[in-house]
Parts: sequence; structure tokens; C-alpha cells
Amino acid sequence: MNHCTLCPVACGANRQLHAGYCGVKGLTVAKYYLHPFEEPPISHKKGSGTVFFGGCHLRCAFCQNYDVSRAARGKEISVDELCDIFRQLEDMGADNVNLVTPDHVSHLISKALSLYKPTVPVVYNSSGYCKVQALEQIAPFVDVWLPDLKFFSPALSERYTGRADYFSYAKEAIAFMAQTPAVWSETGKLLKGLLVRHLVMPMCTSDSIKLLDFMRETLPVDTPISLMRQYVPMGEWEKFPELSRKITDREYRRVVDYALSLGFQTVYTQERESAERAFIPTWDF
Ligand code: SF4
Repeated sequence: MNHCTLCPVACGANRQLHAGYCGVKGLTVAKYYLHPFEEPPISHKKGSGTVFFGGCHLRCAFCQNYDVSRAARGKEISVDELCDIFRQLEDMGADNVNLVTPDHVSHLISKALSLYKPTVPVVYNSSGYCKVQALEQIAPFVDVWLPDLKFFSPALSERYTGRADYFSYAKEAIAFMAQTPAVWSETGKLLKGLLVRHLVMPMCTSDSIKLLDFMRETLPVDTPISLMRQYVPMGEWEKFPELSRKITDREYRRVVDYALSLGFQTVYTQERESAERAFIPTWDF
């Protein structure tokens, strides 16, 4: 970690001494709690034991957790303290331990999981912008892969994240994750496997459709997908006029209808009311 190349940015920061492009040196946590509003097989009955890590190497301009991803929020914790958080979430009755934005600290999360592996499934809740080598390191501890698949077009990902190579990494990451066979509980909880998320963005439905075509061509038809309509203008949206509004019913319907027409067997959708700031967590640290 004196020349970090953990993620595709490969900024080379000496993380023993200072933060890299992702904004953090070590582990930073902004909140952990039982999240009731993840997809039904993730939140399930008692809630998903989400741990929100500070910092992010993808730096989406519109990030729905902007305060945390830019590391302005959160407290630094040790690997041992992260193990204690896992135990606390289990004691609270969490249906799983859900690692939110873990890619830039996956080496430290792996250490924690090697010291204490929760008895509930471990969910890797990623931006999708990650290296397969990093996923291979943490895979022995992960049960459920929960990646975003954000952009197909290099121009779009460059516009909103500064990373034109988003899709070229995400497609390899998702191919790796898809190797974990799905296991469901009798009550509908995802115990192992892959669930792919896509946030539908204003003016981007054509890109969404290309991503759906990609998923249909490369993933088994029973791979569950989640089409999120919770976008609200956040972060640096004022620099992008098209990001100043929520998505319309027509935009969302176009994407959902297309997914259904491709034959995906399980498509999770969201109500229009999900696009409210009230559903964005408040941060504890
Ligand atoms: S994880 Fe952070 S420090 Fe490491 S290469 Fe990526 S941006 Fe740089």
C-alpha cells in the first residue's frame, strides 16, 4: 500500500502516509444500521446490515451519497473496529452484512473478514468499477455480489465520473461475479450469487437499453436485476443541466418495459415516491 493500484484509477498513492484519489487512507465509516429499503432479497425481513464506507474512487458527480463518497463525512476506524461493527449488526438481527462502496478499501475489509466472518451472508455492494484481481482477493469472504452497472457509453461515464473506461472494467467485474451460483433461502433471501443494479438517469435511457442488451447477452436469464428510479439531483448536478430533474415516468417505463421484453425473470423496480431525499440516509459520523 505504499504505491496503491488497488482500483482502476491506480493513482499510486502511498496510503501508509496519505489519502489517494479515492479520498481516504484507511477505513472510514459514516453509518451502519439495518437498512429496510434495499431490494427484498437483500433487506429481507429484519433489514440489511449496511456499512457505508467513506471515500470512493469513481467520484460520480451526481452521487446519491455525495457527502460520504467524497470522504467529508465519517470516522476513521481500525480493522478490529470493523469486526466489532459486523458483530453489532449481527446482534441487531441483520439479514446480512452489506458493504457499501467497498472497492477502494477492499484490502482492509478482507483483513477484517479474515479475522471475523459473519454468520449471515456478506454482500459486496460495489460501483462495478473495480479490478478482477481485487475481487479475487476478497471473493473467499463474499457471498452476494451487488454491483452497480452505471454506464455503457465511454462518453457518458467520462462526463459524469471522469472515467471513460468504466464499462470496460465493469463488464469484466460482473463476468467474474456471475461465476458465483445463486442460492436462495426458502423465504426469498439471496444467500449467494449476483444481483445487478442499474440507476436510471435523466436523458440516459438509450444507454440503459445498451446495458440491458449486454446483460441479456452475457448473464443467465434468471440473474436478478434491479432497475432503480431513486435518482434525485445531488452533488455537482448544477454543472450538468440535464441532471437537474428526477427521471420521468416515461423514461423509467421505457427501461423497465425493455428489460421485461428481454425475458429477465426477476426485475426489481421502484415506485416514483422512492425518488425523494427523505430516502437518502442521514449520516451518524
Ligand atoms: S484505491 Fe484509492 S489510493 Fe488506491 S489506486 Fe484507487 S484511488 Fe488510488
